[in-house]
Amino acid sequence: MQDARSPFTRRQLLALGSRAGASAALLALSERVAAQAPGRPARRMPVLFIGHGSPMNALQDNPFTRHLNRLGQTLARPVAILVVSAHWLTPGRTLVGVQAQPRTIHDFEGFPDALQRMQYPARGALASAQEAIGAVTSVPVAGSEDWGLDHGTWTVLHHLYPKADVPVFQLSIDYPRPGRHHYAIGQELAALRERGVLIVGSGNVVHNLRATVQGAGDGLMASRPWAQAFDTAVQRALESRDDAALIDYPRLDASASMAVPTPDHYWPFLYALGAAGRDARTVTTYAGFQAGTISMRCLMWGA
Ligand code: ZN
Repeated sequence: MQDARSPFTRRQLLALGSRAGASAALLALSERVAAQAPGRPARRMPVLFIGHGSPMNALQDNPFTRHLNRLGQTLARPVAILVVSAHWLTPGRTLVGVQAQPRTIHDFEGFPDALQRMQYPARGALASAQEAIGAVTSVPVAGSEDWGLDHGTWTVLHHLYPKADVPVFQLSIDYPRPGRHHYAIGQELAALRERGVLIVGSGNVVHNLRATVQGAGDGLMASRPWAQAFDTAVQRALESRDDAALIDYPRLDASASMAVPTPDHYWPFLYALGAAGRDARTVTTYAGFQAGTISMRCLMWGA
């Protein structure tokens, strides 16, 4: 694994030093060189949560996508982007994408050819991916070349970074694990922010595809009371940073069973919340609904 910015791989460094101290010194040197490479900001990067909704947002010009365009223009250029997407679920394990050139995955059916043809040709971020593998110690994490960039990633980044000129990698979700597991990994990943990595959770805090409302389009308010109630409960818990209540989401509000019938789109939010740090104030960069019941709420911490 080697990134053009990093003169050594972690494995090479560990092999170079016969003593632990030597390895650590070489590793520190490598990381300092990488940090000084052109385009590598010294500043700490914020954390985002993006409500991604339908893949069609990739093709559309709507209030949500215009918000992503504007948001992308305000952010410092990251060294790399780490996305935890609702669409890479790996029960029983946690994986990190380590491809030099991740493929664009069209993990949906029944959408127009124009969407099927879309590509997001960002290169991979091998050095940052190795840093992510090293940062998470609560569970084993392995590198994987089996995935790529799924639509939870590229339909969002297409609007945030339209030039696809920032390296991107994903971290998978061990889906059956409880909320505290996902939050804890987010906390461990926070170290990458110091290294110029933009951490993005991509899901939806309210997501029930069986209950969408045809023709609802974009709206400030939900079409169903339970969708509005849960989205508001999340907003209130964020205002007081009641992370424990957000982690134990089935008890957050009576609407939880309808708003989050399965947690796949909620877990990415907990990764972002964990990475944000306990004291960070939550900024809501976008709030609204698509299809009547999908919360497109987007959040930022640490900007
Ligand atoms: Zn999705």
